[in-house]
Amino acid sequence: MAHHLARIHGTEEDKVNCPFYFKIGACRHSDRCSRLHHKPQFSQTLLVKHLYQHPVRQAELQQAVGQPAAAIPEEQAVEEFFCFFEDMFMEFSKFGRIEEMHIVDNLGDHLIGHVYVKFSDEEDASDALAVMNGRYYDGRQMQVEFSPVTDFREARCRDYDDDVCARGGFCNFLHSKPVPMCLIRSLEEDAERERELEERDKKHKSKKRKKDHESRHHHRKRSRHSRSRSRDRSRSEDGRSSD
Ligand SMILES: [Zn+2]
Ligand SMILES: [Zn+2]
Repeated sequence: MAHHLARIHGTEEDKVNCPFYFKIGACRHSDRCSRLHHKPQFSQTLLVKHLYQHPVRQAELQQAVGQPAAAIPEEQAVEEFFCFFEDMFMEFSKFGRIEEMHIVDNLGDHLIGHVYVKFSDEEDASDALAVMNGRYYDGRQMQVEFSPVTDFREARCRDYDDDVCARGGFCNFLHSKPVPMCLIRSLEEDAERERELEERDKKHKSKKRKKDHESRHHHRKRSRHSRSRSRDRSRSEDGRSSD
């Protein structure tokens, strides 16, 4: 029985748990879904909800407020996307090694702008969530949560990866925007270096703090005298200010 339940968990056969939420971390029925969206308490993967500003949606929003929908030139859109990818990668890398990062190209309301960040270590994901949730990026507040998605092969649309998805932007599987491997590699190297520097800096600071503490301790006796003198001085300053 238990074995059977484990086998069907999150599949179409599972009448309790939503297979879309389980596999993709988002379902088009959101809170109105008839099946359970079981939000994990811990995960290697974080979801930053709707943070990437999709150029197609941006053009629609402009049109909605009566401005002409000036489509962003393709080249500029790609450039802006790579900048966004780099910002996200470097910000989240501060907490630990990132195994995979996906920014979606989907247009459905439940998926648009999602950023998935999978860490090698669950603890790092937890640290990142604690710091990043509620912070602002480019004037927009970040909503960060643990995601049940850990196997992106299951979540991604294979047709999109082969450039043949007929459902387009409204497909319910992840359309992970392509990023050149050379960019990812170079970001990984930068992030690794920054973490090493940070670590060295931390060690240096804690050593310095220890030294400062020791020297403070050493001079405590001597400073008692000078402290009483400074108290006198502050008293006289008080006196002056009341004049
Ligand atoms: Zn659902
Ligand atoms: Zn698709």
